[in-house]
Amino acid sequence: MPAAPLPRDEDLRLAVLQDLDLLDAGADTDLDRVTALAAEVLEVPLCLVSLMDRTLLRILSHHGLDATQWPREDSFCAHVVASGRTILAHDLRLDDRFADNDLVSRRIPPLRFYAGVPLVFDDQVVGTLAVLDQRPRHDFDERKLQLLARFAELVHSQLAQHRERRQTQRERALFAAGPVGAMVWDAAVPPKPVYLSANLGGILGETFAEQLRAGKPFEAIVHPDDQALVQTGLSSHAVGELPSLALSFRLKQTGRHPRWLHQVSQADRDADGRLLRIRSYLFDLTRQKQLESSIEATKERLYLALESARIGTWDLNYLTQERMLNSRAAAMLGFREDELEHSNLGWMDRVHPYDRMHIDRATHDHRQGSGDVVALEYRIRHKRGHYIWVRSYGRVVEYDRQGRAVRVVGTLIDISEDKQKEALRNRQRQLLDLLNQAQTSFLLNRSVHDACEALFEHLLTISECVVGFIGVVQPGPNGEPQLLVPTISEAGWRDHHVVPGPSHTQREDGLLFTRLDNLFGHAVTANEVVMANHLPSHPASRGLPEGHAELKNFLGLPIRFDHKVVGMIGLGNRPEGFDESLVQLLEPLVVTLGTLFHARDQETARVSAEQELHRLASRDALTALANRRHFFDVAAAGLTQTRRYATPLTVALMDLDHFKHINDTHGHAAGDAVLKVFAEVLRESLRDTDTPARIGGEEFAVMLTSTPQDEAIVALERIRAALDQRPIEFNGQTIYATVSIGAVQWRAEHHDVDAMLAHADEALYTAKREGRNRVCLYRHEGQPNGHEPPALRAANDAA
Ligand code: GH3
Ligand code: MG
Ligand code: MG
Repeated sequence: MPAAPLPRDEDLRLAVLQDLDLLDAGADTDLDRVTALAAEVLEVPLCLVSLMDRTLLRILSHHGLDATQWPREDSFCAHVVASGRTILAHDLRLDDRFADNDLVSRRIPPLRFYAGVPLVFDDQVVGTLAVLDQRPRHDFDERKLQLLARFAELVHSQLAQHRERRQTQRERALFAAGPVGAMVWDAAVPPKPVYLSANLGGILGETFAEQLRAGKPFEAIVHPDDQALVQTGLSSHAVGELPSLALSFRLKQTGRHPRWLHQVSQADRDADGRLLRIRSYLFDLTRQKQLESSIEATKERLYLALESARIGTWDLNYLTQERMLNSRAAAMLGFREDELEHSNLGWMDRVHPYDRMHIDRATHDHRQGSGDVVALEYRIRHKRGHYIWVRSYGRVVEYDRQGRAVRVVGTLIDISEDKQKEALRNRQRQLLDLLNQAQTSFLLNRSVHDACEALFEHLLTISECVVGFIGVVQPGPNGEPQLLVPTISEAGWRDHHVVPGPSHTQREDGLLFTRLDNLFGHAVTANEVVMANHLPSHPASRGLPEGHAELKNFLGLPIRFDHKVVGMIGLGNRPEGFDESLVQLLEPLVVTLGTLFHARDQETARVSAEQELHRLASRDALTALANRRHFFDVAAAGLTQTRRYATPLTVALMDLDHFKHINDTHGHAAGDAVLKVFAEVLRESLRDTDTPARIGGEEFAVMLTSTPQDEAIVALERIRAALDQRPIEFNGQTIYATVSIGAVQWRAEHHDVDAMLAHADEALYTAKREGRNRVCLYRHEGQPNGHEPPALRAANDAA
């Protein structure tokens, strides 16, 4: 007999068979009743229900035959399974498929008749309902075959029920030990529980499970607030034909915390879609709810903590190069959370080029396992283009199998403000250094110009400005304020050099701004800070000095002392623009300059007062010649020179002749006038360096330095002659006066001025005695009489 071929999808068929879970079902009395009935009705001695396994025909129920299994290749059923169709063989000997089967040819008694109907589950023939006889049955007609098919339907439904029972049993067995409870509800509206799994006590609580078993309605154990939800949910299976539903609800509260349940319900329907029952599975959700709420609470606390600390978070996946940011982190860069692309490359692209390397190095080291946390500070570009400083802490939270870091999460803090403060502190320190320098420079040489010069370049650097100047206020010819600018950056001027114009002139000590009705001058005239980040819109923007190049922005700081403007600092073209912080930064400089400028003014005033005093102290009030004290000072200095270099030196004493007589005749005022005229004569006749002095009432002295004796005599003679020939007009009268002069030539024995004056006085006495109106030279001992210089002799003879 040819073996029956295997069906095309034998594996699938075996899987369905397995799924039926009937192979080990054991004796089934219901099935036995069917086979017995079928045998009786169809008048056959043998009837059997069998399932076709991989190699064996397994007989589930048999009537008239005592066997539980049969080899597949010897079985008639194998042909039904292979063909998927009913087989009717009235006489097996006449059918090629069965003629030489052992059961037909060798068995005693041999089998002669076979009819088999396939049992189909999920489109697969899993077995047969078959009837057999030991004699040919030509009488087994179509009607009987139909009856056999009806019995097969009966067997099918019994197997189906059997399967369902087995599955339910299995399910319940599973539930009995597990955390999921099961309930079955009827199809009423509202549904009532008809089955409760044994373990439900552990899920609902024993009390509630007992109440349900005692027939209490389900609502009785549900939290009042959730009763409507549960009712509607379950009823909706019947009313709204809902296939399945999941809902969470609370049980009636018995303890401090509500017990939460999660229920998944499923509707079972018949072929016409009528609801048969509702199966529901319940499990305790309390722990999860608690966890959820504690996670929520933790999340919220963390969120609040992050939020209040202004901390952003990030999450970097090395495999996908995705970098997720929370809204706070995105906001630091000026973005909304959804605006930033979540790529690490995009992020690194925003990082300041100088900082990328050290980020790469640190993250690489961290991924290699160095350190718990990687901490970084770097600059990153804000949406608006500027850079902000951030501090980032990151830590690996996920590794791959090779132990390589694949995910790092971290926090991000904006530290720009700290960094700015640090930078500010640095700049303040620089500024203080600078102030010390400026002060020292000023104290050393009392020059505001030099102090400003020392400050200027550093000032531009610290304030990050391209152009600038420092100016000193001084009164103009009519008392109006002018601004002297010792130092100005040439960068600010067209063609990089200062061009004089109507508002300013170049002087040796700086640039003098004579007109202050422009932007530069406003700080001085208004005594207020001028901050113009948009020049045309500033009220003080009345133009720039001629020749000054375009200014993008400008800051004018008045330098004050005692609330009065004594100078100003002008700064311009700061790339960032100006703000209050720079004004604050420069405050100490402005104050110091105010003090320096004031000190300079004080110093100038003191010096000129001193000079005036000195001048007054060394002058004779009537004649404006040097006075006696000053003469002695000058003469002592001259004498020192002469002693050192042995240059010739002559000292002369001059006394007006008969001056008492002039006073007596013309009055004291006339005498004064004569004294003044003689002073004039002295000034006209002598060099500036000779220092004529009035050393007494009508006594004068002069020291002629670096002058040979002959020349000195000539000069003195010129004085004498000039007075002699000068008519002095006073009050309509003409007065003539003469002078007697005694002179002495320096010699080594003259140790001081007094020694020389004593000799000059002797010579003067001689001149008086010899008739006045003459010049006499002191004769040193051993010097022969009559050794007068020829010029003197001639002159005296003439007088
Ligand atoms: P001799 O030719 O000998 O020098 O005669 P003399 O009259 O000039 O000498 P004497 O010393 O007797 O007189 C000096 C006078 O000069 C006395 C004094 O009143 C006068 N005299 C001194 N100082 C001033 C002064 O500042 N103004 C005026 N008008 N007279 C003065
Ligand atoms: Mg005299
Ligand atoms: Mg006199």
